[in-house]
Amino acid sequence: MAGLWRQIPLDRTVRWLAVLVRTALGQVSHVIGPDKAEVALAERLSRRIAAQDTPVRNVVGWLVRRGLPQRPGCWSQQCDDGLRMDTRESCDSCATLRGDRQSRYRQLMRDAAGGQWARLPQQQRSEIEHQVNEEYRQIAKADSARREHQRREKADRDTAVAHRRLELQEKQAAAQARPCGMCGRPDTAGECSACRSQQLAANSVRAAVDLVVALRADLTDMSAVEELTRTVETDTWKVVRQHQVPVGDGAADVLRHFADQVLAERRARALARLAQSAPAIEEGQLVYKLTLNRPTPRRACRKDLLAAAEHEAERARQKVARELLDDFLADLAEARARGCAAEPSAGGAGGGR
Ligand SMILES: [Zn+2]
Ligand SMILES: [Zn+2]
Repeated sequence: MAGLWRQIPLDRTVRWLAVLVRTALGQVSHVIGPDKAEVALAERLSRRIAAQDTPVRNVVGWLVRRGLPQRPGCWSQQCDDGLRMDTRESCDSCATLRGDRQSRYRQLMRDAAGGQWARLPQQQRSEIEHQVNEEYRQIAKADSARREHQRREKADRDTAVAHRRLELQEKQAAAQARPCGMCGRPDTAGECSACRSQQLAANSVRAAVDLVVALRADLTDMSAVEELTRTVETDTWKVVRQHQVPVGDGAADVLRHFADQVLAERRARALARLAQSAPAIEEGQLVYKLTLNRPTPRRACRKDLLAAAEHEAERARQKVARELLDDFLADLAEARARGCAAEPSAGGAGGGR
């Protein structure tokens, strides 16, 4: 078979054939299982080459049309060239089909002779035999043409599927090969992990800046909001970068880690502060009273009831704190949208790196 492979043109055809072989392998594997599929497909190819009277000229065409497709002699899924793919023994269904054909032939003879075969003169028998043979030949020819047509249609379908798969693979490869839109690093599907981490770090810093500005700024004075945004941004990047950030591929990830940490700490502090604000305290007191006034089991211990009321009050204070913070942030975003005040820039004041 080595001579055959030497003829295969290189580049895209090879990749396409690889998809086609994988498709054929998948189909065989579906019928007889993956462990036997490779051997079965290799045997199929060897068999087809051995059965070839003339040398193969167009290898690709031969593989697509003759070499790779399954050629069942009957209706059995296992059947390939009249052999079972799993056991490599001759196919029982094919034998049944041959039996069917023979009985069909005999039926044709009986019909033609009208049950009078033994009484017919030799001349008439020969004529009937000739006629039945011709009729049978036509039926067999039509059967064979139909099967060949089905085989070709299936081969064409498989070929089209292989083409589509290859196109998809090429598209995916092209997408993966795109350089990073920010730093130009090749093979990064348009965005390298370093730039992505850098972006995420910048997002966290922006959110951390907003937490401070939203709680501190006078939103009626947009120039003050802008000024405060810039100052806090510079400071926040300083805080993030005060940690030892390694040089090289992992640097952006470490930066992102510290930016996330700063954001989480600031959010926790802001929530703690807002939980001590007047509205939160009021809500906490209300919930505390309501909880104590709830009907309770008669044997309930006073200490447990007080602890439960305090627990509910704390939850209520935290809920109000979260709502207040959301409101403050929404107000800031709205003020910025209205007054076009500066938002923290993506890369951070003084450069993103
Ligand atoms: Zn068969
Ligand atoms: Zn990049």
